[in-house]
Amino acid sequence: MSSILRIGDRFNRLVVTGSPVVLKKNWPAKYPVRCDCGKEGMARGWDLVHGTQKSCGCLQREAVSARNKTRKTHGGTNTRLYQTWSNMWDRCSNSNTRSYEGYGGRGITICKEWEGFAAFKEWAEANGYADNLTIDRKQNDDGYNPENCRWVTTKENNRNKRYHRLLTAFGETKMIAEWVEDDRCQVSLSTLQGRVRKGWHDEDAISKPSCDQRRFLTAFGETKSLVEWTKDERCRTNRAALQERLNMGWEDERAISTPTRPIKHTPKR
Ligand SMILES: [Zn+2]
Repeated sequence: MSSILRIGDRFNRLVVTGSPVVLKKNWPAKYPVRCDCGKEGMARGWDLVHGTQKSCGCLQREAVSARNKTRKTHGGTNTRLYQTWSNMWDRCSNSNTRSYEGYGGRGITICKEWEGFAAFKEWAEANGYADNLTIDRKQNDDGYNPENCRWVTTKENNRNKRYHRLLTAFGETKMIAEWVEDDRCQVSLSTLQGRVRKGWHDEDAISKPSCDQRRFLTAFGETKSLVEWTKDERCRTNRAALQERLNMGWEDERAISTPTRPIKHTPKR
């Protein structure tokens, strides 16, 4: 059997829309596909041919929903809670979902109990669910299960996500808060977050210096770039703090020479 699929080839709900692409070195090529429901994504030829991937994920969701309906164990699939449950499954099991890499792609799983919506709904209602709350995992590296989950406001959830968001650059995947500490990161946390929000490519967002950070600073009668100053032994702070101070309008020399953490006063002799 030829392993080359053609544009227009149909495998259940998925139709091939382009030539195979190698997304990661040494990984099997994936074909761009469109699902009957309208979602676009990538699928391995093997999965298409062997029927392990039949849809973007909508088929499984419909099957679960139909199963629940026949059991008459829950009401409306139009509810916000149902959407929460359905999105959770997408993030963890559908590799075509945008956020998959930060969830299913790094081993975040959903407990067996929550495979059906009814059990999830029961837990949600017993644990303070309200329509203004979102599901949050207490331990970011642990999965979705009753012990690790709680309902929080979107604001609280975003605060957690802001720091836990995963970025891939230089062949490594780390949390945004960790990248800022990395020597290869050229920008402050707020700049990096802003770029990610604007849809920058991860590595560009991390490694491209921003205009204001290319600036030169003068201290101790010398003028050097900000990055050079952070490598100077007279610089008593890190790049992120230095940048922040300059943004706040500190004088160059004060910004460079003031230690990041206050030094304890030693008694005078
Ligand atoms: Zn679909």
